[in-house]
Amino acid sequence: MRIEKGYKYRIQPNKTQQEQFETMFSAKRFVWNHFLKLNMERYEKKEHLLTYNKMSKLLTELKANHPWLYQCEKSILQNTLKDLAGAYSRFNKGPKKYSKKTLEKAARTGKALTFYDQEGHPKFKSCRDLVQSCKMSWTGNNIEVKEKEIQYTSSGKYRKQNCKIKLPKVKDVKIAYSRPYQGRMVSAFVTKESDGKYYISLCCIEIEHEPTAATGANVGIDMGLKAFYYTSDKEVAENPKYYRKYEKRMIKEQRKLSRRQKGGKNRNRQRVKVSRWHKRVRNCRKDFIHRLSTSLIHRYDQLFIEDLNVKGMMRSRRLAKSIADAGFSDFVRQLEYKGKWNYKLVRKVDRFYASSQICSECGHQSEQTKDLSVRQYQCEECGLEIDRDFNAAINILREGLRIVS
Ligand SMILES: [Zn+2]
Repeated sequence: MRIEKGYKYRIQPNKTQQEQFETMFSAKRFVWNHFLKLNMERYEKKEHLLTYNKMSKLLTELKANHPWLYQCEKSILQNTLKDLAGAYSRFNKGPKKYSKKTLEKAARTGKALTFYDQEGHPKFKSCRDLVQSCKMSWTGNNIEVKEKEIQYTSSGKYRKQNCKIKLPKVKDVKIAYSRPYQGRMVSAFVTKESDGKYYISLCCIEIEHEPTAATGANVGIDMGLKAFYYTSDKEVAENPKYYRKYEKRMIKEQRKLSRRQKGGKNRNRQRVKVSRWHKRVRNCRKDFIHRLSTSLIHRYDQLFIEDLNVKGMMRSRRLAKSIADAGFSDFVRQLEYKGKWNYKLVRKVDRFYASSQICSECGHQSEQTKDLSVRQYQCEECGLEIDRDFNAAINILREGLRIVS
């Protein structure tokens, strides 16, 4: 099977290269903001919004008037226009409404809301945005990894040293080339993250992927709050408590940040510190759920999972923190694409299906388990005693198999 994938690496540009990246980021912001403003003016005059082709023509003119834009790799600016056109078309298709955050802010400041404040409308980019990025297209070896020393460790793992990546305009940048990318490269994203570090993501297509073997086994998965999930095979994935563990430290650093004077040097330093803590937690969690989803896809052919309305659950404040911590939606998304790569079936089961109230043995429906504090399921009909989460997982598997048959 042929798949597409992004490979992310840390890069270490020198001082000159960092300045060159800064120029590219600001060129991108300049072009984005210029055309966004133009489109907003056209909207006021009830004129048609500019298409990508129109903007592309106008870009030539803009560059003639602002020669510094030539210092930026040209595909970055083209991609910026494509992104803007894409953002507009998504906005036009989507529902026109204000986000909760916008409404709250308006209520606080007493400012009147405009058409442009609606959810999904493209926003102006700022040099104060925490993450800066740009996208270069691959054309005829303008982007190329230069491998210096190829080594395989005794365990067959890949290791390389002194590798560089050739990029348009900035030339050779030091890269931590931890694993070789596969397939055909189509573009590269350079990002400067909130902690001040630079990364590159190589987007590749046509990667040959060997699907894992069929096992003949099926599973139902119940997403929990106490544990990450429970399966119909009575397996429990305990929740990692990284966030809780780091939370105290993060709150402390966050408090320090709010005391710092706006615009000051110390504030910026503190901001970097806070974002490093956030990132540490994020990476641990990412690693955790990747390992779980890969393992499940390897072991089962048909996977059924309760279609949780995560957004709905998030509204409940007390549960929200555990859910955000647990990363449910990332987990489900991973199961879905890894399932596709390996010809495994991943299916959501309707969340209105009363999985926790039905006896997985005899099908009797009980009212008692509506109370979340009752951990044990006891059937009044057949006398079954089972952990409520396993009971739910078995029911999800049953319901899933019924739907697909
Ligand atoms: Zn029963």
